[in-house]
Amino acid sequence: MNIDLEKIAKERGLRYFLISFVDLFGVARAKLVPARAIGEMVEEGAGFAGFAAWLDMTPAFPDMLAKPDPGSLIQLPWNREVGWLAADLWMEGKEVEQAPRNVLRRLIKEADGKGYRLRCGVEAEYFLISPDGKSIADSTDTQAKACYDQSALMRRYDVISQICDAMVELGWGPYQNDHEDANGQFEMNWDFDDALVTADRHAFFKYMVRSIAEHNGLRATFMPKPFANLTGNGCHAHVSLWKGDNNLFEDPAGELGVSQLGYHFMGGLLSHAQGLCALLNPSVNSYKRINAPRTSSGATWSPNTISYGGNNRTHMIRIPGPGRFEVRLADGAVNPYLLPAGLLAAGMDGIDSKKDPGKRIDIDMYAEGHTIRGAKKLPANLLDALRALEKDKTLRSKLGDAVTDAFLKLKHAEWDRYNGHLTNWERENYLDC
Ligand SMILES: [Mg+2]
Repeated sequence: MNIDLEKIAKERGLRYFLISFVDLFGVARAKLVPARAIGEMVEEGAGFAGFAAWLDMTPAFPDMLAKPDPGSLIQLPWNREVGWLAADLWMEGKEVEQAPRNVLRRLIKEADGKGYRLRCGVEAEYFLISPDGKSIADSTDTQAKACYDQSALMRRYDVISQICDAMVELGWGPYQNDHEDANGQFEMNWDFDDALVTADRHAFFKYMVRSIAEHNGLRATFMPKPFANLTGNGCHAHVSLWKGDNNLFEDPAGELGVSQLGYHFMGGLLSHAQGLCALLNPSVNSYKRINAPRTSSGATWSPNTISYGGNNRTHMIRIPGPGRFEVRLADGAVNPYLLPAGLLAAGMDGIDSKKDPGKRIDIDMYAEGHTIRGAKKLPANLLDALRALEKDKTLRSKLGDAVTDAFLKLKHAEWDRYNGHLTNWERENYLDC
């Protein structure tokens, strides 16, 4: 695609470009570049010290260059002087193999070589909280069953409508906004698209929600479980594989309208679920959302077992209708690029090795899950998930050694930092032991 950003800057009145990338921990990093220099940046890239981001580099590494993808341009709806650009990372003439967007692009290219195009949608739930982070922002939002609470939704009309208007303007096709299950929690839905388009939008959405919340004197958090008694922030992903305009997961003759290919892809997701958890639930806090005790609303809405069902939200994978399924595993800490990359890696193995997901389970897993004999559980904590990823040689071979090694190394160090932290709970329970 030949897009002249200098020309676009003049036409649209852009004075600056934000050249942005997401590191392995999901942190968005950027340089603000004046429009006069954008041509050079597209050619050469903006320079960064790789060690300063979570990418497993040392201070001795040479310059890392972020080359913006002109096709990803988004004019900030709340500051029209600035254009946001997703960037790909390069070093000494080679792509940085462990950079999340590069990992996803490589997996998309490999799938494309086999005639498959991953399309997905994401539901990135978030809380609106006080600027100090201590409580939800709306002290009157106290219903035990807060989901779809009309009044609580409309008390946040300013924030929600600004974000939704922005998505309309950007052409994302937003179609519904709601108050979610937890007090203070919201979800906004926009159209699914090709995996890279959705990943860029997901990265931008998080930035946009935080920015617009701040402009309204609030703070937004995607943290998986910010409040112990409330439902956590999920990031459900709806997936399907396409060939051109043909949805390959759709088959009217298939069980619940899903094709054999779709079930093989799902078989891959289920068989690699424990290792995938490290990518899809990448924080210490993530495991306080999955496997959590019942919340004050009556349900966690997050999976606790590796299972799939029909239109049933108590399973890790739900088939809401023909031609797609919803992976309910990921949470708000998930990296927008490693989410589809992980799903593609596991799903393609399912197709390559014709994995059978087994029979679907039609029970309420929260109430009756214990009746399923031999049901595989999700990892109990981040360390278990990292160890599962370490053991999963197939997932490693699909994702690539560079990203697997870098991710495991940095996340083990994070686990060690957490584990070295003495909690009040321990002192309360063990001082008199
Ligand atoms: Mg939701």
